Amino acid sequence: MELGNFFLSVLILIAVGLAWYSGYRTRIKSHYSLTKNDHKDYFIGLNYLLNDEPDQSIDAFISSLEINSTTLESHLALGDLLRRRGKVDGSIAVYQKLLAISQLDNKELNQVKLGLVKSYVAAGLFDRAEKLIDELKVADTKIQIAALKIGLTVYQLEKEWQKAIKAANHLLKLSMPNERQEIQAKASHFYCELAEKELDLQHYNQAKEYLSKARNMDKANVRTSLILGKLEFEQANYKQAIKALLKISTQNPSFTAEAFDLIIASYQALNNHKKIQKFIEHSLEDPLSAGLLLKVIQYIKGSEGRGKAKEVLFQRIESKPSIELLGQAILLNDNAEIDPNAEKFHEILTNYLESKTKYQCGSCGFELKSLHWQCPGCNEWGFIKPIDPFIKEVDG
Ligand SMILES: [Zn+2]
Repeated sequence: MELGNFFLSVLILIAVGLAWYSGYRTRIKSHYSLTKNDHKDYFIGLNYLLNDEPDQSIDAFISSLEINSTTLESHLALGDLLRRRGKVDGSIAVYQKLLAISQLDNKELNQVKLGLVKSYVAAGLFDRAEKLIDELKVADTKIQIAALKIGLTVYQLEKEWQKAIKAANHLLKLSMPNERQEIQAKASHFYCELAEKELDLQHYNQAKEYLSKARNMDKANVRTSLILGKLEFEQANYKQAIKALLKISTQNPSFTAEAFDLIIASYQALNNHKKIQKFIEHSLEDPLSAGLLLKVIQYIKGSEGRGKAKEVLFQRIESKPSIELLGQAILLNDNAEIDPNAEKFHEILTNYLESKTKYQCGSCGFELKSLHWQCPGCNEWGFIKPIDPFIKEVDG
């Protein structure tokens, strides 16, 4: 027997032994007599466990311990223990037997169903889990909340955003006020997922409707403004696109660089160079992220030439140095065109920067090269932000 299995066997043995003792005491108190069969099943179970035959041992243990309100916790603990140890099939078997043979009341049956839902999810049997979650909609609040939270996880994995929204709305009704903000932030992203899908299909009205709902769920969700900006731009509503994208600086200034190109393109489509100038000046005011400064410098280089870009950059680089800006500084150098080393340095820096992660999750620290709204590390929504690559000044 492997060490892991042996450990599991010992744990199950202790759990079931305690349960058996608890049932034994109940039977003594109730003047039930302990039959010889009880002992026999318990020791048969023990024998199966020691011989690494968990399926048979579970059957024997369940037969050895009468299922009632007093022993239910122990049976549930056995199912839970098996699932946590990766024995998902055994765990499902325990819960299914409990549902099939017990004479439990509704509340107790719902506890068993909740355990079964967790094991179905662990086994990837999402259809069965969903069916049980539906049945638990009439359970007491605590079980309903637990089931809905599991439902949210399942619907996200399946990308079933409508179902996820329905579960989130149901959860909002049952949750305490201090828990609602987190659920609303998630639901806002579910609506954004639907909006992006509709935008891809050029169903602009439907996409707008979802975006409006996403904003109602979480006004600070910067993603709603980015999608709306893109949607308006695609429909040639440039003023509306600019209005949506400028909102980002008040929602979350670390995302302003993400909207820069589309704002400039919208002003250019309107042929409004005065507004571009004003927008550039405004962008250069503090607080300025390195990402935004880089965008501005690149734009100025294209529109006003190398000299102006160099002037703007050199005014700021000393107070806010970053590797990206140093790379630009090398290219903007007067000797860059005649100095072959400048191109080489820039190439080395570009390769280095391309290998660097540009976004980081504020919840778990996971780093990414491209923007994701749901963290692949911790599955949280809306915690990933652009990394501000300014090199921190050393004190003293
Ligand atoms: Zn994370």
